[in-house]
Order: sequence, then C-alpha cells, then structure tokens
Amino acid sequence: MTKETNTNIAHPCFDKEAKHSHARVHLPVAPNCNIQCNYCNRQFDCVNESRPGVTSTVLKPFQAFEYFRALEDKLDNLSVVGIAGPGDPFANAEETMETMERIKAEYPDKLFCVSTNGLNLYPYIDKLAKVGVSHVTITINAIDPAITAKVYKWVRFNKKVYRGIEGAEVLLEQQLKCIPALKGKGIIVKINSVIMPGINDEHIVEVARVCSELGADVFNCIPMIATKGTEFENLQQPDSKMVFKTRMQVSEHIELMSHCSRCRADAAGLLGKDLKDTHVMLKEFAKR
Ligand code: SF4
Ligand code: SF4
Repeated sequence: MTKETNTNIAHPCFDKEAKHSHARVHLPVAPNCNIQCNYCNRQFDCVNESRPGVTSTVLKPFQAFEYFRALEDKLDNLSVVGIAGPGDPFANAEETMETMERIKAEYPDKLFCVSTNGLNLYPYIDKLAKVGVSHVTITINAIDPAITAKVYKWVRFNKKVYRGIEGAEVLLEQQLKCIPALKGKGIIVKINSVIMPGINDEHIVEVARVCSELGADVFNCIPMIATKGTEFENLQQPDSKMVFKTRMQVSEHIELMSHCSRCRADAAGLLGKDLKDTHVMLKEFAKR
C-alpha cells in the first residue's frame, strides 16, 4: 500500500532498513505551542512524537546550525534534520524556517522533516516544499469534533483562543486540508495518533481510514503516557493488547509504522541509540 514518494535517500524513521545505518537529529528550536493537548506537560517535553523527557535546552536558529555542523563531524550517515518541538514547529514558524534554510544552504543533500500538530502548518506548505522538506508528520488524534474536543484543552488560532467543539472544528479543518496540499507538493505524510483508552481507542481506525483517503502515506499509533501534571495523568495507559488491536485495524487502511522510537525533541543519532553527550553539546551551543 506504499504510495509514491519523492525521495530515494534513506530516512531511518520511514525505512526499516535505514534504521541501523542512518542517523537523524532533532533541532530544538521551537519552544512554544499553539494548542494544549490533555496528555502533554511541556515542562517535560512535546509528546507529539516522543516520550516525556526534558529537552536539554532550546537553540536559536544560528546556534542550531552550528550544533548541526558539529554533529555532522561526529556522526556517520547523518541523513535527516528534523524539527519536532519541544513545542510546535509552526507556533515558532520563523525559527523553524530559518533553521532549515540555513542548513539547506550548506547541506543540500540532507532530508528535512517536521513533526507538527498541523494547526498552523497550511500557510507554510509552499515554503516547506521550496526548502526541500520531504517528510511531514501531523498528529491527528480524532476526526470527530466531539472526540477531538476531549483531547485538547484549548486551541489558539489567528490570535484567538477556542475551546470545546469550536476549538476541535478549527483544529480539524486546518489539519485535514494539509494532507492533500502536502501530497500535491510530493511530500511524504505520516500521521501520528496517540492511543488514549476510553477517549479515542475505538476511533483511531476511522482516523486512519479518512487520512489514507486524503492521501497520507503512513500511520503511527503511539500509546499515551500518563504524564504527571496533565488532565490525563490518571487515565489508564493502553495495554499491549489494545495497542496491537489498534495497529491491526489501522493496517487494513494504511501502511503502518511499527519501529517508532518515540524520540525526544532533541534526539540525535541512530533511532533507539541516541548519542549520550548531546545535552552537554546543546548547553554549550546555547551559550554562543
Ligand atoms: Fe522526523 Fe519524527 Fe523521525 Fe524526527 S522522529 S526525524 S520528526 S519522523
Ligand atoms: Fe504538547 Fe506537542 Fe500537544 Fe503542543 S502539540 S501540547 S507540545 S504534545
């Protein structure tokens, strides 16, 4: 069921074979967020794509560029530059775009990847295509506004805060229109859904079906982590039976990603084998 893609370069998150040979780095240049997911405590990190864990520091675009250059010397086969938080890349769009543009100018052969909640992605799709972003991940936890409304405390769009069903509708409209627009630019689209028992576990298959129809390429089901200090801190975490069942249902509609490492917003190295001393490096580059 793999759809046509625009790149032959290996991406360790999308290509199982490349997982052990190609490294990726996440550049933590995006500290702010424009929504509040009920499972996220950003004192700890963005869980869009990752496990909770503090990002060591946030970098400015020029610091991120120098940090990237240092990692390039250190890591073999560093093929992917990703921006995944610790907030949302497009709640910090200037920093996100400037970082990618700087790196693209000196390293045109790298793959560029962003992971977002999708709320403010649409206006940047042309620019992303121009800078050569090849992979975009959008976290879509529900496509029914009544369910979406249970997942988010608020949504801030065009300087206005929305709550409940109204917020859910604003978020969904933006998220869903991005999928065909990204595909129109030849960008590979991955959808993340966080499995929240009793909230969306029965509904994720419908998210997968709709996103696949809109053109999404691959789907990643992520078990929720009940993080302290969040609305969902007492929600039961999904057990392995629920995760397996959800993945099986999803796989009937779209290609499944099964080797996600739930990495941090500042991860660097091979998937599942991150470099150990990046927090020291990050602190050093943040002082420059
Ligand atoms: Fe891209 Fe996500 Fe992989 Fe990072 S973990 S490189 S954002 S797919
Ligand atoms: Fe947290 Fe990411 Fe959700 Fe923002 S989009 S609230 S950073 S999980």
